[in-house]
Amino acid sequence: MSCLFCKILNKEISADFVYEDEKVAAFLDINPVKPGHVLVLPKIHVEQLHDLDDEYILPVMQVIKKTMKALLAQENVDGINIGQNNYTAAGQVVPHVHFHVIPRKTGDGHRHWPGTAYGQGEAAEIAEKIKKGIE
Ligand code: 5GP
Ligand code: ZN
Repeated sequence: MSCLFCKILNKEISADFVYEDEKVAAFLDINPVKPGHVLVLPKIHVEQLHDLDDEYILPVMQVIKKTMKALLAQENVDGINIGQNNYTAAGQVVPHVHFHVIPRKTGDGHRHWPGTAYGQGEAAEIAEKIKKGIE
C-alpha cells in the first residue's frame, strides 16, 4: 500500500496523533493553515468521501466534533473551518479521505474563497439539475 496516510495510520511514517480509535484517527497536518490544524480520517483506504461506507460517516463526524471542542477550548481559538477536498481538480493532494479541522482566530487574516452571484434564472436551472442527480 503506497498511500501516505495509510503509512501514517500503520505507524510506518510518524505523525503527531491527537486521537485514535477503531475506525478513526486524527493527527496534525504537517503544513498547517494555522497551528493546530488537524486532519481527521477513517482508518480504511478510500480515496473520496462519496465512496466512504456509511458505517464510517458518523464515527468520522463524531471525531471532527471532538476535535472542534478541543480546539475551541484552547486559548486564541475563536472559530473553526472544516475543509474536505475530493479529486485533484478540487485540490486533493493525498488520495485518502480526510477532513481538515482548522482553528481560526478573529482577524487572523485568512481569506475564504470568493463567491460570484448567479445570473437571472441560473440558480433555479442549476438546482433542478442537481436535484435530479440526487438519489
Ligand atoms: P489535501 O490537499 O489532500 O486535502 O490535503 C493534504 C494535506 O496533507 C495537506 O494539508 C498537507 O499539508 C498534509 N500532508 C502532506 N504530507 C503530510 C505528511 O507527511 N504528514 C502530515 N501529518 N500531513 C501531511
Ligand atoms: Zn490510504
